[in-house]
Amino acid sequence: MPRVIAPLTDRDSRHFWDGVRERRLLLQRCGACGALRHPPRPMCPACQSLRWTSEAASGRGTLYSFVVSRHPSEPDAAPRIVALVALEEGVRVVANLQGLDWREVRNEMPVELFFDDFDGVALPQFRPAAPR
Ligand code: ZN
Repeated sequence: MPRVIAPLTDRDSRHFWDGVRERRLLLQRCGACGALRHPPRPMCPACQSLRWTSEAASGRGTLYSFVVSRHPSEPDAAPRIVALVALEEGVRVVANLQGLDWREVRNEMPVELFFDDFDGVALPQFRPAAPR
């Protein structure tokens, strides 16, 4: 498996990676207009406010789109499914989709968040959602 390098953090993304270490997917909510946003950024794209708070996503969503990624020089045990997930909160997140063969993947399928460790680094991942 390819090595995982610890994510780079800065002032704007530190809260996100602190949340990941606690097994929480944190989204930003604008402190002025209340708009939710992801990925982390300093300014609200709706009202340009610099005030914000963070809140944990439910982890539930649907698959919006995906690609099958194969490493160009180091063969993987299985191709990675890189997913764009539409969270039920209304923002989208990029993460790997695990737990199924890429030929079984369908857009709009329900998925759920979990955290997996890669070389000691926890990363948000998704898998097909258990029936509710
Ligand atoms: Zn705003």
